[in-house]
Amino acid sequence: MSQNAKPLIKKDVVIIGAGASGLMCAREAGERNRSVLVLEHMNRTGKKIRISGGGRCNFTNIHLQPDQYLSDNPYFCKSALARFTPRDFIGMAEHHGIAYGEKEEGQMFCQRSSGDIVKMLDEECRNAGVKILLNCRVGSITKTGHFSIATNSGRIETGALVIATGGLSYPELGATDLGFRIAQKFGLRVTRLRPALVPLLFSRRDLHAFKGLSGISFDAVVRCKGIQFRGKVLFTHQGMSGPAILQISSYWDCGDEISIDLMPGMDSYALLTGMQKSRMELSNLFSAYLPRRFCQQWCAVNAPSRPVCQYTEKELREIAHKIHHWTIRFERTAGYAQAEVTAGGIDTSELSSRTMESKKVPGLFFAGEVIDIAGQLGGYNLQWAWSSGFAAGQYA
Ligand SMILES: Cc1cc2nc3c(=O)[nH]c(=O)nc-3n(C[C@H](O)[C@H](O)[C@H](O)COP(=O)(O)OP(=O)(O)OC[C@H]3O[C@@H](n4cnc5c(N)ncnc54)[C@H](O)[C@@H]3O)c2cc1C
Repeated sequence: MSQNAKPLIKKDVVIIGAGASGLMCAREAGERNRSVLVLEHMNRTGKKIRISGGGRCNFTNIHLQPDQYLSDNPYFCKSALARFTPRDFIGMAEHHGIAYGEKEEGQMFCQRSSGDIVKMLDEECRNAGVKILLNCRVGSITKTGHFSIATNSGRIETGALVIATGGLSYPELGATDLGFRIAQKFGLRVTRLRPALVPLLFSRRDLHAFKGLSGISFDAVVRCKGIQFRGKVLFTHQGMSGPAILQISSYWDCGDEISIDLMPGMDSYALLTGMQKSRMELSNLFSAYLPRRFCQQWCAVNAPSRPVCQYTEKELREIAHKIHHWTIRFERTAGYAQAEVTAGGIDTSELSSRTMESKKVPGLFFAGEVIDIAGQLGGYNLQWAWSSGFAAGQYA
């Protein structure tokens, strides 16, 4: 990286990543009269925020509880979430006149566009005197007392370096592994990284059976390893997605079985035995509760459809069991290209939960998704970015 004739830049705080946590951290540190520089390798700030929530940004959840986060240490997130809460973020949005509303289950969305949130954060940073360097490529980072950062804009020195580079999903929006590499370079542990909130892909056999159902969705309860979510499941060209599948994907590992209750809250055995004398085809009976094409295909694979009166009681019991426990062994996830978030990250035992500073390397802070904290679907990940960015900004 050529740095000839470029002046040395010195700042109190340098933040790598102008995404959700980086901008919040910058604003907070700037408010404390620290000189703050944010380094962003893309040509705009907050690219992931802009596409979040389908362009409307589900920016927080008012029913947030710390147990809605996945981490090797489920207690780590508590302190930061309690010090900058969903109400705090909503207050900031209201102060900027952003129109918002609750969609479902406490999920708060912009009414106009997620661009409103980025505009607000940019404005907050500007008002706090924060400088943002776009199209900035970060090279080597060393520490001898202070941090020295090589970039295409010259060498930068700082006493406090905040890594807010996010997770690995959606590389086209700027995701890189830089944050994890910096952690490892400074001797910090990184837990196993994996795509989460991600569609799951069928095995070859199931793909053959169900690929024609792409676009079909219905309400179900999805279970894996004792965890369960209720919501829509959606067939895709290669597997399944929809909120309930995305949620369970964060807990799923290759080889795990997923069980789907196709008629949650119903007693399908009572339904079947109540129709035991009927000549109605099994798949037609189920079509009153589930999409017809799905019922036909599900019956073809699990219980070849006949008039209900032709099944024995034992068979009806087995069919009812399968309706409430349809098990699928997915082959893999759709990967980081389609994952909403990365599970795993900087091992939280390396960091102070109050300040987000490294215990081993004074002055080195982390914020946002790069840390081993992954939220459930519904505004939790952005709230973690705001809260952890705020915490780091108070101490960096
Ligand atoms: C499609 C999609 C929809 C989503 N919708 C929602 C939602 O509605 N609600 C919700 O709560 N969460 C949502 N999320 C998750 C949420 O966007 C992230 O968890 C959140 O943005 C993480 O914040 P962050 O600051 O850690 O990382 P990011 O916001 O990803 O910011 C990281 C920044 O670092 C920059 N960066 C990375 N590498 C480098 C480098 N080498 N040099 C310089 N800069 C670098 C990136 O360009 C980026 O600007 C969604 C995610 C996706 C992919």
